[in-house]
Amino acid sequence: MLFEVKCTDLAARIGKLTTPHGSFETPSFIPVIHPVKQQISPNFLKSLGFDCIITNAYITFKKNEEKARKYGIHNIVNFDGPIMTDSGGYQVLEYGSVGVSPSTMAQFELDIGSDIPVPLDKPTGYGLSYPIAKSYVDETISNIKETIKIIKKNKNNSDIDPAYLSSNGEIWTGTIQGAEHFDLVKYSASVLDKMGFQFFAIGSPVELMESYNFSILSQLIKTTKLTIPNKPIHLFGAGHPLTIPLAVALGCDTFDSASYILYAKDNRYMYSHGTLRLDEMSYFPCCCPVCSYYTVKELLDEDRETRITNLAKHNLFILKQEISIVKQYIYDGRLWEYILQKARSHPKLMDAIYTIKNFEYLQNSTPLFKQKAIYLFEPVDQYRPELKNFRRMLINNYKSFYSDVLLLYPDQSIRPFYLSSIFKNLIDNYSPSLVCLYNPFFGLIPVEISDIYPASHNVFSNHSRDFEVGDYGEFIKLFNSFLKINHFKTIYIIADSFMEKMLSFLQFPDEIELKIENFVEITTKSDQFL
Ligand SMILES: [Zn+2]
Repeated sequence: MLFEVKCTDLAARIGKLTTPHGSFETPSFIPVIHPVKQQISPNFLKSLGFDCIITNAYITFKKNEEKARKYGIHNIVNFDGPIMTDSGGYQVLEYGSVGVSPSTMAQFELDIGSDIPVPLDKPTGYGLSYPIAKSYVDETISNIKETIKIIKKNKNNSDIDPAYLSSNGEIWTGTIQGAEHFDLVKYSASVLDKMGFQFFAIGSPVELMESYNFSILSQLIKTTKLTIPNKPIHLFGAGHPLTIPLAVALGCDTFDSASYILYAKDNRYMYSHGTLRLDEMSYFPCCCPVCSYYTVKELLDEDRETRITNLAKHNLFILKQEISIVKQYIYDGRLWEYILQKARSHPKLMDAIYTIKNFEYLQNSTPLFKQKAIYLFEPVDQYRPELKNFRRMLINNYKSFYSDVLLLYPDQSIRPFYLSSIFKNLIDNYSPSLVCLYNPFFGLIPVEISDIYPASHNVFSNHSRDFEVGDYGEFIKLFNSFLKINHFKTIYIIADSFMEKMLSFLQFPDEIELKIENFVEITTKSDQFL
């Protein structure tokens, strides 16, 4: 199988992509290397665990055509693992045209044995008017049609599924253009999907990332994922620890960039929460071999080439570390918590969190049951997909069997609540037909299902009760829908400070008899409710 998924969280997946030169695990950062002069050797990249690299087929064609055709790209760059080749689209973006036809490039990429070739595309970049962007999308599609003719002409492996677009096992990349014109993105993605591509790349995001426009980037990825939900997706030009976790969470599987070396040439030092200028630093917040060996001053005092090589190596360690952290968070089912931590690194990332909070597709690939408890800190956590799934289940699949008396009690993190003495005392005192716990993040939790995930597998900050009620819109929506579906005659509310503030936002049907008691009063009167 070309792409196997082992584990998911939000829209992120840990998978395995298989190419003619072996498999590699995703999410994966694919470092860009220059096909002729390499400051960092592919062997060093391999030793760090970068199992796939990308190089430029267009530059190879211009500088080393004959040798590359004769010996193959793996020998040219001295790397025996999977190699992706870019085709000059970036040069098209920079210079307008490259003077090579799409079919010439496609044939060249096949001749040099690329594992993941990219057709010569016409990147839209960012900020083009709609008609111009559309003409670029159409040009890319027409280039790709030429490319497909070459692929079919070269087809010499009859074992390959005819539905796959491949001549000898290589994985062609469908390059999706359109940038911020999302209907063009959707159109581009669906046309390429129908053409038989098994691997896709989102083009043109570099300017969005450089300008920290993570909200538009998120919508661009979402548009692609809604059109192509299952096949692997590459994000061109993503090479920063701030961008990668968000893009992984939204469903991108691979990334490529030359950032590690470009930043190094500019004396820029990557770290988990951003970028620092080497000459403005006092300490290295990192323990990689470079940062352990040098002090900041010693590295600054090195000659330019030594400094660039070592800074580039450090940047690679940081990118590798970022991918490993993200994968561990996916395994632990806590990627939401990680992208929220990251969002504290840059306000524009926090903006993106508020953009993605209602992305419904994140719910569909978040497991319904997880091994570990989830942590809830602040109002934005009410949008966690696990909680949305729980509330959706409560509205769509749950109905109270008896509906005379509903009793609402604040969730005090007593697990399991139905075995506690408080529960017994509530039953004795109020004879309710249903007891629900209420919690700012969940809304309501019927006690009879309070031990299912994640109702009993969470830890929440009590500080959450101090926020303004308007912050918990999901609570209000859930509460009002629940009362509409389940027709109670009497409702007892043991109201804590959160519920007291909340009451004016809740809609109780006229015929309901409402009895409100104060949580502090009843708990001070008797310790049986503590
Ligand atoms: Zn370091």
